[in-house]
Amino acid sequence: MAAVLTSRTDTLSKYMKLDQKGNIMAEYIWIDATGATRSKSRTLKEQEWTPENLPTWNFDGSSTGQAPGENSDVYLKPIAVFSDPIRLAPNILVLAECWDHDGTPNKFNYRHECAKLMEAHAVHEPWFGLEQEFTLLDLSDRPYGWPVNGFPAPQGEYYCGVGTGKVVQRDIIEAHYKACLYAGINISGTNAEVMPAQWEFQVGPCEGIAMGDHLWVARFLLYRISEEFGAKVSVHPKPIPGDWNGAGLHSNFSTKEMRVEGGMKHIESAIKKLEGRHQEHIAVYGEDNDKRLTGRHETGAIDTFTWGVANRGASIRIPREVGVKGYGYFEDRRPASNADPYRITGIIMETVFGSVEE
Ligand code: ADP
Ligand code: MN
Ligand code: MN
Ligand code: MN
Ligand code: MN
Repeated sequence: MAAVLTSRTDTLSKYMKLDQKGNIMAEYIWIDATGATRSKSRTLKEQEWTPENLPTWNFDGSSTGQAPGENSDVYLKPIAVFSDPIRLAPNILVLAECWDHDGTPNKFNYRHECAKLMEAHAVHEPWFGLEQEFTLLDLSDRPYGWPVNGFPAPQGEYYCGVGTGKVVQRDIIEAHYKACLYAGINISGTNAEVMPAQWEFQVGPCEGIAMGDHLWVARFLLYRISEEFGAKVSVHPKPIPGDWNGAGLHSNFSTKEMRVEGGMKHIESAIKKLEGRHQEHIAVYGEDNDKRLTGRHETGAIDTFTWGVANRGASIRIPREVGVKGYGYFEDRRPASNADPYRITGIIMETVFGSVEE
């Protein structure tokens, strides 16, 4: 009987170790019209690469819904560089902004406006920490470990669960965590979520525009690594209707003034401003968020703005510890798991500190 001597993974790793003869592979990553990440590779000489000296590149925007066919070139402007945990050093990941041929930001480039707001209000040293929830699906779009016909036992023992029957696909979460650390992403933790096959990772605190940059590359790595494990990632805010928790992108926020003694009055004044622009925030806090923000399953209702200390059914939660100390940060629980972090952090800055003069 013919024995299989090496696995496919072993075969791949043999090639991944080959000498690159002074070249590196740069994986350019961008965000498409639907909020998915896309990427393509190019060869560069081995040297210190930064957003300033990396070449601008382009792609066919008509194939991604980002440009019309008759004028399809969209430019990729490098804006952040990370170590590549898939191909390993000296290879790199390059996060890029999308620009049109006429020198204006692409319609789906939400980073550009966000960066302007961050720059204009940088003296407040805004920190963000985002909690990315997501669900791992099999190839038939069923959450992993769920019976084909029927449902798992009701929620209760899955959140931060340990053990067979409580969590699935932990290897993906472990691989992703390590990969983020290797890449240089400011990942701050992970946990299993309330619905089985749902997980969370947190990124932050990150200052200003770095929040969106780090979260987008962390998302790219989650999709890329799950691809290797044969799992699909869903960031839909309510993947399974009914008595199953939805998925959010809780956004924790603080400024220099909020983080020191007396900070609570700055926290409360920011919350007042958020209250006045609830609908504007909901409009950019993700698609299908109405299916999640029902007022049940640890959410507030989509049409009302509420806040409170340690209240996980509110729009805004002030953590208990912050309430006791009198300073720190607050959590905006409204954003959906599929929201764009540039739009979330951008509108928080705009609401709290005002828009940018053109
Ligand atoms: P939860 O109790 O809501 O599940 P997590 O521990 O999952 O909270 O996430 C908390 C997030 O808040 C982390 O991303 C962390 O980096 C962020 N965070 C902590 N302190 C601050 C701060 N001062 N400003 C902004 N974000 C913060
Ligand atoms: Mn081609
Ligand atoms: Mn959390
Ligand atoms: Mn959570
Ligand atoms: Mn939270």
